[in-house]
Amino acid sequence: MSAAIDVERTRQALASSTLSQGLAMVGDRWTVQVLLGTFLGLKRFEQWQQVLGIPRHTLAQRLRKLIDLGLLRPRPYQLKPLRHAYHASAKAMAMYPQVLMMWAWEKRWGGLQSGLPDALLHRPCGHLFAPVLTCQACEQDAEVTTMRVQLQPRSPQAQTPPTRPARTTRLVWRSATPAGLDHRVDRWNLLIVAAVVLGCHHFDQLSQALGIGSSTLARRLQNMVESGLLRTEADRHDGRRRRYTLTDSSRDLLGYIVCLSRWAGQAHLQQASSIVPIHTCGKPFVARVACSACRQEVHAWQVQPQYRNGQPAAALEESD
Ligand SMILES: [Zn+2]
Ligand SMILES: [Zn+2]
Repeated sequence: MSAAIDVERTRQALASSTLSQGLAMVGDRWTVQVLLGTFLGLKRFEQWQQVLGIPRHTLAQRLRKLIDLGLLRPRPYQLKPLRHAYHASAKAMAMYPQVLMMWAWEKRWGGLQSGLPDALLHRPCGHLFAPVLTCQACEQDAEVTTMRVQLQPRSPQAQTPPTRPARTTRLVWRSATPAGLDHRVDRWNLLIVAAVVLGCHHFDQLSQALGIGSSTLARRLQNMVESGLLRTEADRHDGRRRRYTLTDSSRDLLGYIVCLSRWAGQAHLQQASSIVPIHTCGKPFVARVACSACRQEVHAWQVQPQYRNGQPAAALEESD
């Protein structure tokens, strides 16, 4: 099947997808961490700094970017000297489904448990729940195997070329870091997972579809294999080639990927994605995150995070 894929068309679709635009916008690790901090109740500069261990300059830069993107709104909480608290906008709150998917992935596969709520309570049904990815049309569970994909690449003029892969930076993860996707998962790994879902299984296909140079791609694929996000084996038809496939943990990233794509398309770009998943029910797949207990769609205001050892200090300090 992989031999038959149109890699050039896949490249165009990926480059113009709401996924790669969304990841270019908010997919860098610190931005993800700052946003997740918001959902864990952080609102002030010092709180992010304290909890994330993020350098002042970097934090100031990310906050400015999130304000420019309309995701955070500064409101003064003190006049002399002037200090601001940063509140999530409606556009940021619309990211909640992907935050839930991220937490669900992290609980199942991640190495960073601390800072995460230990459990989530769905207020309307009163049960502790796991967030489940479902299809908006039929409300059934959705996963890679219950979807096929249609590609509708945009014209080259409308495409945003994928940004160059950033140098691999080794970040120091403190134990108090509010967990996002753990260090194995960054925006390039997510794009590689998406390319594999779209049928690119060989090195040359991935390199072309993602526009990643050989040495960078080789390093990334090796890291992903070592950390259990990809499996590799000699190709059955051509022993000189390796074939890359998803593992259970990378297949499980689908929820985050489709929720981020949906958010980027709806809340930010106001466009449909060039990658259109079709669910087994026959309808274009629209992500809906549901409660595992009552199967109703979950909204941010209905969820009460539960902490076994009390809420993280920074969130408790919040007084406004
Ligand atoms: Zn469906
Ligand atoms: Zn429920």
